[in-house]
Amino acid sequence: MPKKKQSYSRKNFLASMKKKGIEVKIIDHPLILEELSMLRNKETKNFYFKQGLRRMGELLTYELLRNAKVKRKRISTPLCTTTGYKLQDGYVVIPVLRAGLPIAEGFVAMMKDAEEGIISCWRKPDLSVEVEYAKIPPVQGKHVIIIDPMLATGHTLCAVREVLKHYGKPKTWTILAVISTAYGINELSKSFPRGTKVYTCALDDKISGKNFISIGLNSHGYIVPGLGDAGDRIFGTPKKKRKMDSKKTV
Ligand code: URA
Repeated sequence: MPKKKQSYSRKNFLASMKKKGIEVKIIDHPLILEELSMLRNKETKNFYFKQGLRRMGELLTYELLRNAKVKRKRISTPLCTTTGYKLQDGYVVIPVLRAGLPIAEGFVAMMKDAEEGIISCWRKPDLSVEVEYAKIPPVQGKHVIIIDPMLATGHTLCAVREVLKHYGKPKTWTILAVISTAYGINELSKSFPRGTKVYTCALDDKISGKNFISIGLNSHGYIVPGLGDAGDRIFGTPKKKRKMDSKKTV
């Protein structure tokens, strides 16, 4: 693990990522900020937490497709014919289990033609990652959107990228994450191709200290302030069970 950064400026960080070909888009629409606050709040019940992530999926998809290419097609209204539009390219959305699931649900609710893959990763106590299962449609020439709500160390997404290399060459790579760290995004830049985009609602880059790997990332790999363990909060994993788990998924 690298030492904590001595000096950090968000502006410089984003500029350095841009140089490395990673475009970070922090989506701070008021609706997203409000939803994010609800997700961060430890009092939020599991049901509302899951529902909030689904909504985040919808809102982020709306932003993601802002400049998507559309093709024209002739359609008939009840009165006459006119020009209609349809998204031109193919999209494959790949949630990382467990926590990516509700966001993917929101994504697909907005984009009925999206194809879906699935990938399951196990984050070990030393923060390395093992991919356990993947079922992915062909991605050649399509836009690939990988969903992981917490872009913490970035190790999960790098492991996912290694697996996806075997499914074809996508047109574009996009990561959807609710909260990200600078450390995690920098790790992505070592594995993902130039042109990769990261859509995130927040970059947690304020808190640091003795038990921190990097700014906003504690030694257990949790984002601070973050929102806790997203998977546990979605599925309501009881605290006792969390301790008993030898395999902890993200
Ligand atoms: N995964 C989570 O669920 N939360 C974090 O803070 C980091 C990784």
